[in-house]
Amino acid sequence: MIYDACTIKVTKNCRVSLQLLCFTRCLLAISAYFFLTACNVYAAVPPAVIKSEPTTLIIANSKAWKPFSYLDVQGEPRGLLIDLWKEFAQVNQVRVEFLLTDWQESLENVSQGKADIHAGLLWSAERAKLFDYGNDLAKLDGQVFVEQSLLSTPLELLLKTEALGVIKGSYEDSFVRGEFPFAKLIRFNNNEQMISAALNGSLKVFVADFQVANFYLFTANERNIFSPSRHVYTASVKPAVHKGNQELLDFVKQGFNQVEQDAFNRIQRKWLHVETVYPNYLVPLMLGLLLCMIAFYIIQLKRTVINRTKELSIANKELQLLASKDELTGINNRRNFIEEFKRHNKQRSDSLTLLLFDIDRFKGVNDSFGHLVGDQTIQAIVKRVSSILSQQAIFGRIGGEEFCVFMTGLNEQQAVRFASNIQACISRHKVMTDAGELAVSVSLGAVYSDKKELDCKQLLSKADLLMYSAKSRGRNCFEFEIV
Ligand code: GH3
Ligand code: MG
Ligand code: MG
Repeated sequence: MIYDACTIKVTKNCRVSLQLLCFTRCLLAISAYFFLTACNVYAAVPPAVIKSEPTTLIIANSKAWKPFSYLDVQGEPRGLLIDLWKEFAQVNQVRVEFLLTDWQESLENVSQGKADIHAGLLWSAERAKLFDYGNDLAKLDGQVFVEQSLLSTPLELLLKTEALGVIKGSYEDSFVRGEFPFAKLIRFNNNEQMISAALNGSLKVFVADFQVANFYLFTANERNIFSPSRHVYTASVKPAVHKGNQELLDFVKQGFNQVEQDAFNRIQRKWLHVETVYPNYLVPLMLGLLLCMIAFYIIQLKRTVINRTKELSIANKELQLLASKDELTGINNRRNFIEEFKRHNKQRSDSLTLLLFDIDRFKGVNDSFGHLVGDQTIQAIVKRVSSILSQQAIFGRIGGEEFCVFMTGLNEQQAVRFASNIQACISRHKVMTDAGELAVSVSLGAVYSDKKELDCKQLLSKADLLMYSAKSRGRNCFEFEIV
């Protein structure tokens, strides 16, 4: 009762308020439901999808654009862009379906609304009228590929006779029309068809993305037939949506920002790490050749240096000989005799004997028989003296017809005998010349000493004086003195 009374009481007092409270609660619940549902949808799926297929994005691209996007032999989509979009789908919790067709058709699929997004393409002014572009996904280098046998022909000249292959509707298609307006273009539906034409010989020049052509040539094992001849552009591959679909574009941009850089790198490495169109062995071969050339050059250089050193040392010896020997007689010249005399005089521990002799009345020989006979006389005298000298004796021509002999280690008697022998051996026999046998003699001065540190110059002038003394005594004799 109390409850009833109370209820009645409450009902009476607050009926209107309770009714209002219930209404407000319902309104709040409905609003919260719509608010939360909306939040949930906007947080997980793109705005474009809400309108039609809430969880699936249709991604268009080429069916033959290796390694970016292509259908494998089982008809499955594969490639760098495919993997990037799969990663995008996983990170952003959306489903993706791929619609891979010929290139031109792939563009039409997006522009005509059959696909939501183009997986990736290059920007061009023409395309910018149809699409809005997202983030950079990969870099492309456009190259003109030329058959190897034609590589030496300048490209501009080549394009006057050879048709240039391009993919219909591709970036290159519009690019080459500006770059090579004179070129005759053959337009292919996709890369596979174009590169097949190149490989079967019906196309000699084509423009393609370096990475794409490279992939086809490499996987066809025909990488040596075509080489990139000219780089024409470098541009970024970006995803694109239908012009004006800003919400979807924002979703794509934000979605790719969520993809980890590591995932980007891993996918790039997987698809772009292919060998170039140059053979594998080219770099090691070139390096090997270079090393061989360097080694060969070093060996040749060493040989040349050895030969030149030999030649130089022979030439040096010849020069030394020429500089030290008397040309007419082959014995020491004055300069070398004095050097040797000084050296031996300094080093000696024994006695010294110095002989100096001059041919008697030699002018008469020259005057009577001429200088040639005079020369022969000098040579004959030198020969005769040399024949009786020991190895230790130093013999030199110190003037026109003046000579010196230096000996060490003799005692006084031996020195006298030595001087006498030299002097006498000349007059003992006539000398043979072109003018017949001639009687010649010499006057000789001999200095002997067992003292050390004697001055060579003084010894020479002493011997000279003694020689002149012998001359004044009537010639053909010798003077001997101990100093
Ligand atoms: P003396 O007995 O006083 O020595 O008389 P000499 O005639 O020999 O006089 P001197 O020694 O002064 O003369 C030297 C001559 O030797 C003068 C020069 O014409 C000659 N003569 C010097 N060198 C050569 C040479 O290389 N060949 C020839 N043929 N003659 C030379
Ligand atoms: Mg003389
Ligand atoms: Mg003389």
